[in-house]
Amino acid sequence: AKERGRDNCVIYSPEMERQVSTQLIIQNDLRDAIDKRQLEIYYQPIVDEYGVLAGAEALLRWRHPMFGFISPAEFIPVAERSGLIDNLTRWLIKDVCEFLVINADKQLPKISLNISARQFNDVDFVERLLSEIKGRQLVASAFELELTEHLFLTDISLVKTRFNELRQAGFSIAIDDFGTGYSSLSYLQHLPLSRLKIDASFVRNIGENDRGNAIVNAIIEMGHALKLDVVAEGVETPAQHAYLKAHGCDWFQGYLWSKPLPAAEFARLLPRAGEV
Ligand code: C2E
Ligand code: CA
Ligand code: CA
Ligand code: CA
Repeated sequence: AKERGRDNCVIYSPEMERQVSTQLIIQNDLRDAIDKRQLEIYYQPIVDEYGVLAGAEALLRWRHPMFGFISPAEFIPVAERSGLIDNLTRWLIKDVCEFLVINADKQLPKISLNISARQFNDVDFVERLLSEIKGRQLVASAFELELTEHLFLTDISLVKTRFNELRQAGFSIAIDDFGTGYSSLSYLQHLPLSRLKIDASFVRNIGENDRGNAIVNAIIEMGHALKLDVVAEGVETPAQHAYLKAHGCDWFQGYLWSKPLPAAEFARLLPRAGEV
């Protein structure tokens, strides 16, 4: 039954119970998802102003045996809270590296990996990442790390130390979903970044009203003033693309060009090495 506190706010509801149990199921089953081979990586192309493939973002997919496809928007936050994100990311890095090795005969664009903020607290992160890469004769410049943040980044000085190590080693670093959630201007001030990704929510507002346009312009200008490349994500319409391009946005990602693709399908888009 529904109980109400003295100030009349709902302290319990069936909806809350449903959410809690979904989270518990996700948390329990995610633990075995790697071993049971339920995870897969999709690749979404990132293109230049002419629509030429310039990179790709690796995105996790989870096929649950009973519930079917579960969105990363649902399971990543649970993984971050429970600490399982470390295992997931380790698996992700291995699998992306294997993909690059298998496709070494092709022209490979830079691959962007989503890394949750808390993982940069881990002192072994850089070393482990480098050993996976070097063990397969791959180079750090083949990767970009996207700082994604669903939890508050507590110690920016720790992250800064880690980012300096990563840049030194040759990785590019992007700030993801810029302008949303916890991602803040102080990161631009303190962190050694290479790119800034405009969140899809801002791209969606292009053409909707003057404010929407003004915010997008301001983000692009600020990025360029700080010598950062700017990527727009969630680009779905030619009008959004035209607007972003006219305002100097450097790179584009979205359904207008391609949805995230299974690895084999993405690999078919890649020209052979040596081909133009
Ligand atoms: P994100 O990093 O902002 O990734 C972009 C999301 O937008 C992806 O959702 C992608 O499929 C979707 N998208 C791309 N183009 C369009 C478009 O034109 N229109 C619309 N409506 N959506 C588009 P996805 O794959 O469901 O991932 C959701 C979020 O989960 C990601 O958002 C990212 O924060 C997180 N995530 C996914 N994979 C990983 C991972 O391996 N590690 C971590 N830490 N987070 C991940
Ligand atoms: Ca991302
Ligand atoms: Ca993003
Ligand atoms: Ca986003």
